Amino acid sequence: KRIILVGPPGSGKGTQSPLIKDEYCLCHLATGDMLRAAVAAKTPLGIKAKEAMDKGELVSDDLVVGIIDEAMKKPSCQKGFILDGFPRTVVQAQKLDEMLAKQGAKVDKVLNFAIDDAILEERITGRWIHPSSGRSYHTKFAPPKTPGVDDVTGEPLIQRKDDTAAVLKSRLEAFHIQTEPVIDYYSKHGLVANLHAEKPPKEVTVEVQKALS
Ligand code: ADP
Ligand code: ADP
Ligand code: ADP
Repeated sequence: KRIILVGPPGSGKGTQSPLIKDEYCLCHLATGDMLRAAVAAKTPLGIKAKEAMDKGELVSDDLVVGIIDEAMKKPSCQKGFILDGFPRTVVQAQKLDEMLAKQGAKVDKVLNFAIDDAILEERITGRWIHPSSGRSYHTKFAPPKTPGVDDVTGEPLIQRKDDTAAVLKSRLEAFHIQTEPVIDYYSKHGLVANLHAEKPPKEVTVEVQKALS
């Protein structure tokens, strides 16, 4: 299957995606994780992306479309994929359709992580992540066994520099103005399943499974 996850920052996309990946054996491409890795490695791409990311603005369509175009060539991504955090603009959605059309493929389902803005600040400011795997924890909702330490590898967890109340405001603005039209775009093609993303993780997982069955 070719699945897209759309939702505001903190809506639970990263939390649900490993479960989807395990079930459907897909490739998981998260543009935010890829961009952060490029920033950390100070690659030319990372240097170009850093300023926008720090401000909570979107990185240019050309940069992210380039990353996705490259990543989708991987053999593991040929039969299906989960795109987490892409497309975030209508231009990106159109480019994705063009890329897939070349392979005679198309998007199967768009999972819309619908949630009220008011819930997101607590989710975002309590988030801790394991950078190399993208695993996320929450001080209150999903604490690691040992504070600050990844359960699986024992490596340290970090807080994202953009996970502050102030930067969240810009990220939400970008979501409402630039990304919500992407949901309308896919709705017109009848591809959108709306999830109740404010529910506990396990209940959201059940909704995801229903949407994909
Ligand atoms: P979130 O937790 O908000 O869903 P991500 O990890 O997906 O955040 O993205 C972090 C940042 O990376 C965004 O604020 C944006 O600057 C950049 N980014 C990620 N994906 C895209 C994209 N598809 N288009 C433009 N910018 C992106
Ligand atoms: P996104 O990838 O959409 O930005 P995450 O999956 O990283 O969001 O979730 C943001 C934070 O909220 C994380 O700290 C995560 O542990 C926590 N979280 C995720 N889903 C839920 C949920 N259903 N209920 C409560 N907290 C959640
Ligand atoms: P700076 O010193 O330029 O202000 P940051 O505070 O953004 O750097 O981050 C410190 C280091 O941790 C940087 O190398 C950054 O790329 C990395 N980093 C921050 N957040 C993440 C993340 N979510 N995943 C991977 N690496 C990250």
